[in-house]
Amino acid sequence: MDIRHIAVIGSGTMGRGIAYTAALAGFHVVLQDISTEALEKARQYIISEMIKSVEKGFITGQQQEQALQHLSYTTDLTEAAMSADFVIEAALEIMEVKIDIFKQLDAYVPKHTILATNTSTMSPTEIAAATSRPDQCIAMHFFNPVHKMKLVEMIRGLDTSDATVETTRQVAEKMGKETVEVNEFPGFVTSRMNCLIGNEAMNMLMEGVASVEDIDKALKLGLNHPMGPLALADLVGLDSRLRNMEYLYKHLGEKYRPSPILVKYVKAGRLGRKSGKGFYTYND
Ligand code: NAD
Repeated sequence: MDIRHIAVIGSGTMGRGIAYTAALAGFHVVLQDISTEALEKARQYIISEMIKSVEKGFITGQQQEQALQHLSYTTDLTEAAMSADFVIEAALEIMEVKIDIFKQLDAYVPKHTILATNTSTMSPTEIAAATSRPDQCIAMHFFNPVHKMKLVEMIRGLDTSDATVETTRQVAEKMGKETVEVNEFPGFVTSRMNCLIGNEAMNMLMEGVASVEDIDKALKLGLNHPMGPLALADLVGLDSRLRNMEYLYKHLGEKYRPSPILVKYVKAGRLGRKSGKGFYTYND
């Protein structure tokens, strides 16, 4: 299927990165959010990332100009959905929110449109069941920061068709990504593994085994992780990580019980990079 127009729903950490990467890849992209403030922040982020990329020579000024022309922003879901060939939902990791968005999208998008969710952990089958097109629904899991991370995990729901998987692969590849295909199971491959590592790091911090810096340094230099698990959790957003843990705990059991320090930080409003403070403090 020829995909030209992509709608991205939710303009937070992930939505803005997906929109940025898709526009650079030549898609016409509309980014939608219920919050005008979030949309404005996303617009500013995209412009500043593009300027940095031009300065570093990763893209040309012409590519930047073209990508910016291909991008639009709206708070109106109907407007975003109307001409989309492919939708990527990146709103909150809350099942009710995703189901509500998919129900509305199903009513507004053209018949041929594929509906993808960027969920980190949740069942694409359950989300797809809210629509009249479960064969055209899939989970398409990007990584943060989207323009730098190479992988897209594609998760088939029960009724996801081969054609939907193939089109999703083509969209991901056009965005410069490599794909893996995963059968549905909570947390897929990456979140299931990564949440455990992060949670263990938080429990070690709470037990006084080592400092934040030394836990991260140990994993980077001793186990060859490119980034420490606590710095990574700050990048993901501690609120998002807690939702991931709660879902995995509910579906996979005790092993995934969220670390009490994670719960405490989220209650305090320490959400990581997005709030300026998490396991580390950020001044930018
Ligand atoms: P975020 O909190 O940064 O952003 C979520 C955005 O969704 C906000 O701007 C919010 O206003 C918007 N929103 C909320 N309800 C909405 C609705 N009904 N319609 C449209 N927009 C709505 O969250 P995030 O970290 O970008 O996560 C988004 C999704 O991506 C989640 O499902 C998360 O699990 C997944 N994910 C996150 C990461 C990560 O590193 N943060 C990585 C991979 C996948």
